[in-house]
Amino acid sequence: MKKLICFDMDNTLINSDKGHFHSYMESIEKFGFKRISYWRFLKLMGMPKEQVVREIIGYGKKENLYKKINDLQAKLIEIKYVHMTKALRGTKRVLKKLKKDYKLAVTSNCSHRTILNLLKSAGINYRLFEVIVGNDDVRISKPAPSEIRKASKILHTRASYVVGDSIYDIMAAKRAKVKVISVLTGHYSREDLKRRRPDYIVSSLRQLPRLLKKIENES
Ligand SMILES: [Mg+2]
Repeated sequence: MKKLICFDMDNTLINSDKGHFHSYMESIEKFGFKRISYWRFLKLMGMPKEQVVREIIGYGKKENLYKKINDLQAKLIEIKYVHMTKALRGTKRVLKKLKKDYKLAVTSNCSHRTILNLLKSAGINYRLFEVIVGNDDVRISKPAPSEIRKASKILHTRASYVVGDSIYDIMAAKRAKVKVISVLTGHYSREDLKRRRPDYIVSSLRQLPRLLKKIENES
């Protein structure tokens, strides 16, 4: 049976930093809060979305407010900023190659619909993936293991690898007891990632086929 690989989306398969930034800023401004700098924002990428908003507008506000800001952000990125999304170099080629030997899944903290829209805008065929799990498909998102577990459950296949750029991907994979391969295409340095003890670190997705071959040959 083919093994299952769960991919994070943002900064693993695609770059959508600008779209996320502009949609978050527009949303928080609509609710009367001040923008933050792009550089400060980038450090928040990969966190659960409710936490991103808390970091921007402050903790201790009404629960409903965080949700409203997130809902508007999700709408804005799809309607207004989706075109700012690009596939990372080599992603399409690598996915097609891996598809021959593995089952592929997307497990992301974006909503299911945002994932489909961003992949489409990046020119990545969503049919390459056997399953797509977004934050609205589970009760708690990464760093909880729910998205990974849900993909495994739907496909009746235990995930063999998680691939992602952030420390939250590592935390989620560890909780799901799945091997984790970190990529350096996000905003986390090798040192940041190393501290969380991923099983492997590669510079980008393009090194993944060779690494997987090596791991499989050794086992
Ligand atoms: Mg990511």
